[in-house]
Amino acid sequence: MIQVHVQCPVCGKSLMDPEHKIDNYPSIAVDLVYGKKRGALYLSSLYGSYNIDIKVPCPVGKVSSFFCPHCREDLKASRMCEVCQAPMVGFAFREGGSIQICSRRGCKKHLIEFEDPELELRMFYETYGTFFKAH
Ligand SMILES: [Zn+2]
Ligand SMILES: [Zn+2]
Repeated sequence: MIQVHVQCPVCGKSLMDPEHKIDNYPSIAVDLVYGKKRGALYLSSLYGSYNIDIKVPCPVGKVSSFFCPHCREDLKASRMCEVCQAPMVGFAFREGGSIQICSRRGCKKHLIEFEDPELELRMFYETYGTFFKAH
């Protein structure tokens, strides 16, 4: 599996949390708000893994809001989920482009967008390259 490194699209700070590992890799840490409850959400940084550690009692099937833990900006992306029509949430790649996930708990819609298709090829090549070397 590919590990992604993401940052806040607003303030540019890393969202990776090396202290809180999921699948043995640093997790993607965001603030989640559901109803009046606010807490941390840790997502696996392995693309294709849906393992999470959630501190907010958001039931499966419900939509919550995602915020940057550094600048507190709403991470809502411009598009809606094609599967369930909930807002998508966006994280930025350092290299450009973004990964978007659905804000509905349990919906597995993921979307990776690159500004430059050549970058996509290069990034996948490099990621697979290090992946095979590291394991
Ligand atoms: Zn931020
Ligand atoms: Zn969805």
